[in-house]
Amino acid sequence: MTVHFPFQNTYAALPANFFARVAPTPVASPRLIKLNRPLAVHLGLDPDLLSSPEGAEILAGKTVPAGAEPIAMAYAGHQFGQFVPQLGDGRAILLGEVIDKDGIRRDIQLKGSGPTPFSRRGDGRAALGPVLREYIVSEAMFALGIPTTRSLAAVITGESVMRETMLPGAVLTRVAASHVRVGTFQYFAARGETEGVRRLADHVIARHYPHAANVEHPYHALLKNVVARQADLVARWLLVGFIHGVMNTDNTSISGETIDYGPCAFMDHYDPAQVFSSIDEMGRYAYANQPRIALWNLTRLAECLLPLFSDDQEKAIAEAQEILGEFIEKFTAAYQAGLRNKIGLFTMRDGDEALVQDLLDAMARNQADFTLTFRRLCEAAGDAAADAGVRALFAEPSAYDEWAARWRQRASEEPQSPAERQAAMLSVNPAFIPRNHRVEAVIQAATLNDDYAPFEELLAVLSKPYQDQPQFADYAEPPQPDQRVLQTFCGT
Ligand code: AMP
Ligand code: MG
Repeated sequence: MTVHFPFQNTYAALPANFFARVAPTPVASPRLIKLNRPLAVHLGLDPDLLSSPEGAEILAGKTVPAGAEPIAMAYAGHQFGQFVPQLGDGRAILLGEVIDKDGIRRDIQLKGSGPTPFSRRGDGRAALGPVLREYIVSEAMFALGIPTTRSLAAVITGESVMRETMLPGAVLTRVAASHVRVGTFQYFAARGETEGVRRLADHVIARHYPHAANVEHPYHALLKNVVARQADLVARWLLVGFIHGVMNTDNTSISGETIDYGPCAFMDHYDPAQVFSSIDEMGRYAYANQPRIALWNLTRLAECLLPLFSDDQEKAIAEAQEILGEFIEKFTAAYQAGLRNKIGLFTMRDGDEALVQDLLDAMARNQADFTLTFRRLCEAAGDAAADAGVRALFAEPSAYDEWAARWRQRASEEPQSPAERQAAMLSVNPAFIPRNHRVEAVIQAATLNDDYAPFEELLAVLSKPYQDQPQFADYAEPPQPDQRVLQTFCGT
């Protein structure tokens, strides 16, 4: 039996300047370290065959499966605000697309599979650490209910990659609704190729926003939809304390999925200015800056679409501005609704925004852990005796007491019982997030000792983030001072 991928490729049928045809570079001795079996089944793939030696060779790029049309996609992008007219898949190769059990088309891409015409000075490879990080964090995001690319498999290649030191090489198999980015539009727009922009827009409308095809102004509808999805996405990031770390336009997906997990991280104590990425010296991609940056990136997308809006540039700009103007409104609505849910409010009233903001401000002043504060607040909603657990997270516990009194007063004006409120809160406030120190410990064990047991255990815990898992209570805890991770790295 050979592994069968039911490929139905559409991107490889676009004009030749959309990509470069390039096969993965074979590696020495691939070994499968993780297969996401439920995801394999969801994609119509046989997990047993995929975990066979032949399957591992495919997932490492050593063998190209039948029906694949391997390509490296072309794209450009603003990196930390600087425009680079050509980036492209420098170390990733799209094997093809399959239709999943929900009828949704999914890209299957190898990341770390060798050089492509877009590699510039890079080696086209990935080190094990970043592959495990992306695997863990993307699957954690999925379990949290946040739109994201997913991880189908991780293999080690049996070869080393040179970074600061020699590290084990690895390949991640990534699954995405598509890999089209804001930067993909920029690639054609920067070359003045309006027809390329149009072909790409038609492709993504058909793929992600089919209803937009039938309205009077499909390209306006496209922008509107991308704006709405990004507004929702970034609100969800903030509500779980996620910091993407490299929100360049080439890392901003048109489908609205979180994509390109590099130096991303979840914060422990609440700090709106938090930055982890070692290369983000100016704090451009700090936690609280993310909505502003998303809008900046969407503005770059709108610029690409202007020629499709109207021949009259002034008119096109005015129309784009109107659509972009919806971002803040949509983001704020999603974020504020999410915050109300986090503190267990079922209705919306004047003063709610200030109530939540006062909690966040107190958390920031008191170095309170973001995830634990909201999780313990669920218990406090059920029983005021649980206040002690929340207070203990604040450097100055009385800061919580004042706030809690206002919160209880506000909650008491709603008809729901404490138990109902608690249940609702437990379903939106996770107990388990991929805390940095845990991710680092997993990477250390795998890289230094070839030990994947910690990786498996962390994945298992993170797959049920909203359930108390008493036997894994430690995983909910913030780092001890000596365990704190202060910086994260791209590792590219
Ligand atoms: P990233 O920061 O991972 O989003 O990547 C930015 C750009 O650099 C993309 O065009 C990547 O394909 C490229 N790149 C990153 N790492 C490598 C590598 N090891 N070899 C070749 N290209 C790379
Ligand atoms: Mg990228």
